[in-house]
Amino acid sequence: MKDGRAGEKAGMLGWSRFAGPLRLTSPRQRSTSACRNVMKKVVLLGSTGSIGTSTLKVAEDLPDQIRLVGLAAGNNGELLLKQTLHHRPEAISLSDPRQARELENTLGTSTRVYAGEEGLLKLATLPSADIVLIAIVGTAGLQPALAAIRAGKDIAVASKEILVMAGEIVMNEARKNGVRVLAVDSEHSAIFQCLDGHAPSSVRALWLTASGGPFRTTPKEEFAAIAVERALQHPSWVMGRKITIDSATLFNKGLEMIEARWLFDIEMARVRVVVHPQSVVHSMVEFVDGSMLAQLSTPDMCLPIQYALTYPARVASQRVQTNLARLGQLTFEDPDRERFPALDLARKAGEIGGTLPAVLNAANEVAVNAFVKRSINFPQIGELVGRVMDRHAVTAHPRLEQILEADAWARQEAATAKL
Ligand code: NDP
Repeated sequence: MKDGRAGEKAGMLGWSRFAGPLRLTSPRQRSTSACRNVMKKVVLLGSTGSIGTSTLKVAEDLPDQIRLVGLAAGNNGELLLKQTLHHRPEAISLSDPRQARELENTLGTSTRVYAGEEGLLKLATLPSADIVLIAIVGTAGLQPALAAIRAGKDIAVASKEILVMAGEIVMNEARKNGVRVLAVDSEHSAIFQCLDGHAPSSVRALWLTASGGPFRTTPKEEFAAIAVERALQHPSWVMGRKITIDSATLFNKGLEMIEARWLFDIEMARVRVVVHPQSVVHSMVEFVDGSMLAQLSTPDMCLPIQYALTYPARVASQRVQTNLARLGQLTFEDPDRERFPALDLARKAGEIGGTLPAVLNAANEVAVNAFVKRSINFPQIGELVGRVMDRHAVTAHPRLEQILEADAWARQEAATAKL
């Protein structure tokens, strides 16, 4: 299967595949044989989470197109066992070695069981896998992503931290190894679909839509009193806890801006954000003639997951049905950058680049944890991230070790910063 599409594979991901910036090979130029439905062998890292469980639904919908050959989870051994008995992957991995041993005893020789970071690397490089979908919260997905790329696997990226921290390294490695980096985030999937067939020189800007989160209309004076429980109630998406808080602060959109910068090899100034509370328009491309193309659907992560896993085919699914008349109004507004400083902080991190995006990401993770533990209030998340970024001496074009050092430095700095 992989051999059959080797030629067109070199042309993906739209913008930045080979030979430097803004080189677009149109998906429409691909041979029709590349669009036949084929069985993809998938490794899923983060199978017990929100994206992970949606991916399993997609695999269940498409037994002729998707076979799960590897599943990895953090600590939820019970759910991983159920998933393993249902999907019968070749290999699984859990963070905790003790739980992994228990699973091994239960499963016998039917499935190989690995543990810890080494387990993630084993799965990411599983010889039978065509594509590795990375849906682990935080930075644990970075090394497996690089290992998968170096082993010649396509990767489908839900864990935006990977591209935020090390976008330059990841995209360069993908180019070098001739593999695809496919977006699972609905916004980036939308942009990828809208870019289809259009020359980079025809693009004026990429527009990421943001729901605005639960506090879109909340006055600034009330921000300090926002309770954790309210921040965990997203108006349109059901997601993991970290990304839900990030959606409330708009740090999620900030991280996505940096993710888009690398995925589509475009400068930050041309990555824009518009608030769209209904979350039906998933993102847009603005062209030089003033036209905009958008991708629309009811909010359901199964759609971008399916698109990434079955690409370049578009496979029939009954799961997502979009009835515009029933949805009624679609509205758009500018984000309030004063109440939501995350957008300016992310723009700054993306424009300066180097180790600064990794610092933003790490400081934000610490700040979100502190907010969830009620050690800081809601607006202090942004304040803390800004404070740590200001103190950082940026290294340009960092090596992976320098990125990991900056990440560790930022965590320490954020944990001890006085607000
Ligand atoms: P969840 O918190 O729901 O799930 C996280 C998953 O990662 C769980 O399976 C967890 O395992 C696993 N995990 C955590 N740490 C490790 C580790 N060290 N080794 C192996 N597995 C680990 O998160 P989401 O699914 O919401 O998000 C995952 C990623 O996708 C994030 O980066 C997020 O930003 C991104 N994303 C999410 C979207 C969404 O709609 N949810 C949309 C777009 C992007 P366990 O539960 O067993 O501990």
